[in-house]
Amino acid sequence: MYQIAQGTQDFMGLNCRKWQTLEDLIRQITTVYGYQEVRTPIFEYTEVFKRDNDSSDMVNKEMYTFSMGDYSLTLRPEGTAGIVRSFVEKKLYGNPAELPAKMYYMGPMFRHERPQKGRYRQFSQFGVECIGVKSPLLDAECIALGYTLVKALGISNIKIHINTLGDQESRDAYRNALREYFAPHLEELCADCKRRFEQNPLRLLDCKVDGPKEIMQNAPKMRDYLNEASAAYFEEVKKCLDALEIPYEIDDGLVRGLDYYTHTVFEAIATSDALGSQLAVFAGGRYDDLVKYFGGPEMSGVGFAAGMERLIMMAEAEGNELATVQTLDAYVMPLSTACQAKALELTTMLRSNGYIADMDVQGRSMKAMFKSVDRTQATFALILGEDEMNAGEVRVKHIPTQEQKNVRWEELIDHIDSFYDITENVCTCGNPNCTCGKGEN
Ligand code: ATP
Ligand code: MG
Repeated sequence: MYQIAQGTQDFMGLNCRKWQTLEDLIRQITTVYGYQEVRTPIFEYTEVFKRDNDSSDMVNKEMYTFSMGDYSLTLRPEGTAGIVRSFVEKKLYGNPAELPAKMYYMGPMFRHERPQKGRYRQFSQFGVECIGVKSPLLDAECIALGYTLVKALGISNIKIHINTLGDQESRDAYRNALREYFAPHLEELCADCKRRFEQNPLRLLDCKVDGPKEIMQNAPKMRDYLNEASAAYFEEVKKCLDALEIPYEIDDGLVRGLDYYTHTVFEAIATSDALGSQLAVFAGGRYDDLVKYFGGPEMSGVGFAAGMERLIMMAEAEGNELATVQTLDAYVMPLSTACQAKALELTTMLRSNGYIADMDVQGRSMKAMFKSVDRTQATFALILGEDEMNAGEVRVKHIPTQEQKNVRWEELIDHIDSFYDITENVCTCGNPNCTCGKGEN
């Protein structure tokens, strides 16, 4: 028996419909915020992700990297690096009138970590990147976009943590302070933290092992090392969030899992009683140096990524089902092989008119076919026997009322239409089963 690889998932039926609902919602929200979709490759040259001096766990331990002879490729563990690589490679920074470039993506990411609830080895992220203009307004806009999505999904138990890492000067000052502070305590720290101390002491604050220890809690705080410009920038971000009435809390310990962040960093944590746990649903921040690192000009960006599995889990935990089982409008029942071709024709006609229709193709008994009507919750059963065939008719049974009537083939669509009160039930999107609620008529 073959088995699915650890940390991966299959989705089908109703579960796929939930993904579609989420994807539709993301497209709607990104569109009103003026973001356009970009699709970059699933794998890149390893150097795109493994940048000099990167100390993050993701880069050091979690990447799926494979060698192809004389070069090395990596399955993307995140979206930002590929997008910035592409932004620079395509010189999208060239025309100031087109900046900031507002881009979003959705798709699978790969990280070799221990699978558990809400943590997979292949998972999907939705993310946005806004590159080319540095303004606290954009940091706030980005957080607002994520917050809008989370709210639209019915996730209410959400906390947004924000912090600032300041500019280069502030961070250098803070790093030195951390090194000085931790140097006498090195022996008390975990092995990873010893490495972090050398590579990037900021990451010490992100330790999942040493985190609760007293030395961690008493460590110097970034906010005491911010220069004036960095402090002012953060003040502006907070002011914008206040104006948008987005609730947030300052989290001194928030440094984020990746090394490229500067200034604002944020993380939205959802708390669910149903899951009895806390999970980060989206997280991101500003990056001043990444575009330059990839060979572009000095140009800042801001973005976040949201775990789509976690968004779905949290929405469901709060009672938003996201999708319902697909039901049929009509199920067509040919009563003998002689009626099958005509039945297929009628089924096709219904489909061309936007009705969700299916038919029996196995010559099954009436009883078996009515079971299919039940199972698919079809609104109509269309019965086509030889008598109906000869008369150019089909028997239409409206299941909810059990009303039935022989209808001429050419009048079939009008007859079905007549059951749908066009002014009330049918949405402008044209789908008679529509639940998008966009149109009243
Ligand atoms: P965590 O602290 O949970 O490991 P992270 O800091 O590694 O998260 P990011 O790199 O910021 O996560 O990714 C952004 C979002 O992607 C996370 O907030 C989370 O919702 C989701 N995510 C990250 N790793 C996984 C995973 N292995 N499985 C499912 N979702 C994930
Ligand atoms: Mg992680």
